[in-house]
Amino acid sequence: MHARRPIIIANWKLNGGIDLMCSSVASFIRKHYEAEIVVCPPYIYIRDMLNFLQHSEIRIGSQNVSKFESGAYTGETSAQMLKEAGCKFCLIGHSERRAMFRENNASCQIKVERALAHNLTPVLCIGENQEERENQITKDVLTRQLTEGLEGIDLTDKNICIAYEPVWAIGTGKAASPEIAQEVHQFIRHELAALYGEECAQGIRLLYGGSVNKTNAKQLLTQEDIDGLLVGGASLDPEHFLDICQQAT
Ligand code: PGA
Repeated sequence: MHARRPIIIANWKLNGGIDLMCSSVASFIRKHYEAEIVVCPPYIYIRDMLNFLQHSEIRIGSQNVSKFESGAYTGETSAQMLKEAGCKFCLIGHSERRAMFRENNASCQIKVERALAHNLTPVLCIGENQEERENQITKDVLTRQLTEGLEGIDLTDKNICIAYEPVWAIGTGKAASPEIAQEVHQFIRHELAALYGEECAQGIRLLYGGSVNKTNAKQLLTQEDIDGLLVGGASLDPEHFLDICQQAT
């Protein structure tokens, strides 16, 4: 059995400013965590967060990464730049990016490659929407997101996380039940085993995201195939987020 270190990731989205950064830093800095804790602020705060947190165990991630390396791509930030800035992780294919910024499995695949090439740990986000769940095609959707999003990528000895975020649970206050989440995570691990072998699949950390809060965190984290949480709204309150982090043991 693989010992997978729990991981809690805060996704600030387009929220927060100097005030949130300062109050988060003040709360984080003194604590020791059993879980790996990652904060993904807007790009503009990455450097400042890193400077403030340099003596803490908190890691910084980005919420996105460009699929381009360099050139005339106004507004983009490359994996190399994120790595140079000190990021360790990057979210890829969050459902908001898929829905609002036309990202798809093919663009995610390029981004995962870019991240791995620069030693950033990609956190590939996958998940079905309400309609897909009602039509009972959740597993088909996830299989496609995994096979196309990882196509041709060798994950042996690579660090990658997969975040299962059902779209219907994001920002709605309706988290998946621990049982449903576990069933899906088990399926994802099974799919990863089919693609990469059991040994590799057992080493990949799977996160649940979607209306996680301090009340449901523990039950989700105690499920066998759930190794961590991706937290949106509840990560904007540093004390609330810390409470979640401390439940991950
Ligand atoms: P939420 O968002 O926790 O606010 O539901 C999760 C996410 O989008 O990563």
